[in-house]
Amino acid sequence: MEKFDAIVVGAGPAGLSAAYTLADNGLDVIVIERGDYPGAKNVMGGILYSEPTSQIFPDFWKEAPLERPIIEENYWLLTEGSVTKVGHRNEKFGEAPYNAFSVFRAHFDKWMGEEVKKKGGLVICETVVEDIIQKDGKVIGVSTGRTEGDIYANVVIVAEGVNSMLTQKALKMQKMNMKEDQLAVAVKEVIYLNEEKIEDRFALEKGFGATIEVIGDATKGMVGTAFIYTNKESISIGTGALMSQMIEKKISPNDLLEAFKSNPMVRPLIQGGETKEYAGHMIPEGGYNAMPKLYGNGVLVVGDSAQMVNGFHREGSNMAMISGKLAAETIVEASGKGDFSEKGLASYQSKLEESFIIKDLKKYKNASEYFDHNTELFSLYPELASDAMYNFFKVDGTPKKEMQKKMMREIFAKRSKTSLAKDMYNFWRVLV
Ligand SMILES: Cc1cc2nc3c(=O)[nH]c(=O)nc-3n(C[C@H](O)[C@H](O)[C@H](O)COP(=O)(O)OP(=O)(O)OC[C@H]3O[C@@H](n4cnc5c(N)ncnc54)[C@H](O)[C@@H]3O)c2cc1C
Repeated sequence: MEKFDAIVVGAGPAGLSAAYTLADNGLDVIVIERGDYPGAKNVMGGILYSEPTSQIFPDFWKEAPLERPIIEENYWLLTEGSVTKVGHRNEKFGEAPYNAFSVFRAHFDKWMGEEVKKKGGLVICETVVEDIIQKDGKVIGVSTGRTEGDIYANVVIVAEGVNSMLTQKALKMQKMNMKEDQLAVAVKEVIYLNEEKIEDRFALEKGFGATIEVIGDATKGMVGTAFIYTNKESISIGTGALMSQMIEKKISPNDLLEAFKSNPMVRPLIQGGETKEYAGHMIPEGGYNAMPKLYGNGVLVVGDSAQMVNGFHREGSNMAMISGKLAAETIVEASGKGDFSEKGLASYQSKLEESFIIKDLKKYKNASEYFDHNTELFSLYPELASDAMYNFFKVDGTPKKEMQKKMMREIFAKRSKTSLAKDMYNFWRVLV
């Protein structure tokens, strides 16, 4: 019987960070991945953050396959014929060790997989974990679709991403805490353009990158966002919205992306480009309130499988990687004591609580539910911003005092003073 110190299910950022940390500490670890290679099936916008990545792979930016260091981040409030923008560019973001990079997961995850192997970890691809093996109430291994495919270990790390059935099985949960309206569907296209065009269109110096997050018409007022990220020789563009609202509005993910691409504010950025890749994926949006139990007898749950996504700050990969690292450190400690029971692995929870992960997810714990029932931020507010800015910039001989009055009249015609005050108070409570 083949037995490892740890089995990791899934070669995404969570699983590979866990495996790397385990192997680095001399533990015998196997990663099982259903794709042809790590990253083959993985979808992300995708912006990768330097500091958390460096915690696992120090100086990764010197050798990992990355696209562009991001020096400018923007938010757009989009309507059918206008855009109101806010953003920030900073030279400090362009200096090593950088703040964030655009990446292709197919390249980056593959690289992480190689790093795991260099440390002595085993990465087995084209293999689906079908079930969790349990004995006397303890997780002792996994079964795969292969003949003689049962593999055993002291601990299993579930890192299979969103909608994890294995988490449910391993922790004997009746069902996941997540509701249908806490799942977003996202689609992404990679559009090829040459480097100079990208740098001209985004006003970038050679090699640097920018991001744009968009709300409003981008999702036809549904709770969600769209994004535009610059890669070396392509642009990643995508849209995502709550699955429940897409079903209700009968809008397909593809139609949403096509409408976004043809918006006159977006079209000039991608004009003349050639679509090379198209992919879809789900994003867990339930946050803290939808988190499953994070550990049990012989098992730990990390990354998207544990709902660790902060939609407001476009953070998921960092939570995945750091949760993987913390899970691995918990196992290293447990190995020292020879105790892989639920009690022996309980320090994973406290490690997460001390980290930014639980703190940030707790901070936004009511956001998902609030926006699900109050969609004004995604529908009405981009329009109000557009009306206000239009009046502010329009020069037509109207005295400024009158212009301001007109601006306020138009806003109050769309949203009463009381409702505006309530919205502000609620946004504040949910977001700050
Ligand atoms: C469109 C989109 C844009 C995003 N943009 C960003 C962004 O810009 N920045 C950011 O930080 N986050 C972003 N995210 C979120 C981020 O991608 C995730 O939070 C992150 O990938 C989670 O990592 P993970 O390792 O937990 O799961 P995943 O990356 O999903 O990895 C899970 C792995 O497990 C494998 N697997 C699944 N089931 C099995 C099985 N039964 N057996 C074997 N293998 C299995 C999968 O093939 C996969 O390789 C985005 C997500 C989407 C969908």
